[in-house]
Amino acid sequence: MRAARFHAPNEPLRLEEVDTPRPSTGQVLVRVEAAGVCGTELHFLDGLLTPAGTPTTLGHEVAGVVAEVGDEAGFEPGDRVAVQYFHPCRSCRFCRDGRENICERPLGFLAFATDGGFADYVRVPTSALVRIPDALSTREAAPLCCSATTALHAADTAGLRAGDTAVVYGVGGVGLALVQILVHAGVHVVAVGRSPGKLRLAEYHGASTTVDATAGDTAQRVQRTTGGAQAVFELVGTRESGTQALGCLDRGGALVYIGYSFDRVELSPLDMVVPETRVLTSVSNTREELERALDLAATGVLDPTVAETAPLSEVNDVLTRLRSGAIAGRSVLHP
Ligand SMILES: [Zn+2]
Ligand SMILES: [Zn+2]
Repeated sequence: MRAARFHAPNEPLRLEEVDTPRPSTGQVLVRVEAAGVCGTELHFLDGLLTPAGTPTTLGHEVAGVVAEVGDEAGFEPGDRVAVQYFHPCRSCRFCRDGRENICERPLGFLAFATDGGFADYVRVPTSALVRIPDALSTREAAPLCCSATTALHAADTAGLRAGDTAVVYGVGGVGLALVQILVHAGVHVVAVGRSPGKLRLAEYHGASTTVDATAGDTAQRVQRTTGGAQAVFELVGTRESGTQALGCLDRGGALVYIGYSFDRVELSPLDMVVPETRVLTSVSNTREELERALDLAATGVLDPTVAETAPLSEVNDVLTRLRSGAIAGRSVLHP
């Protein structure tokens, strides 16, 4: 089968012919129909994230059709499935506590520790599969597996109520999903971004206000228009975005870190303690959140914001355009 493999940072992915994996007990082989391209891919290419081994097939937003099943699989060939990219053990102390997204003994982790979905096939544990509702195509389901699920998990951390104001700082795939989820929960959303096309899309999906981050006075503008936000979802993770994001908050507000970069952020305990600012983080998602994301999309609440589809062979072109900020929404690859 073909697979787009990461060998080293600062090198394009290589489209290679590799052995098709075979499923063993409790596993299935999924024929990939769609794989979303996420900003995390760029973190691997930049050397910010390092896979457990190389070469590794990237791609962690995967939907397709069950092609082959191992023993005790519980799925049949032909079933349409979305894949949870992180495969928790479901028995460690965190899994037992409902925090499977920070499992300490994961069975697998697409692109990070096991081969991902930029390929004709991917092998995963059955526990990673969720059936795709009839109303959704695999093309629509794939990007939900990281963008919408990450957004759902993060939205729950902040403790927002209807009528509150939240800033979504960064409007890539996760940010656009967050805008929709928060608006659906009755939260007023301020979307912050650098690309006019992405900001227009955020507005289309219900953001009340958009702020162009390139103007440099984001915190001031958010304070002026809202009086301070109850939460800021930080999807950029640079020194500059961190400073501006903190400045957007109301007293008692929550800064929720989701994005990261090579930058470090300077924090003043005094400036945070006096208004009792909460600094939180959010990573990945639970299986229940993937089920919820698929249901929300199937019922029309959540648009997967698929911007384009492209053949797997064009993966490096797509990554270049993603880096330039040219893609409003998600690109989806098909083998
Ligand atoms: Zn992702
Ligand atoms: Zn676990």
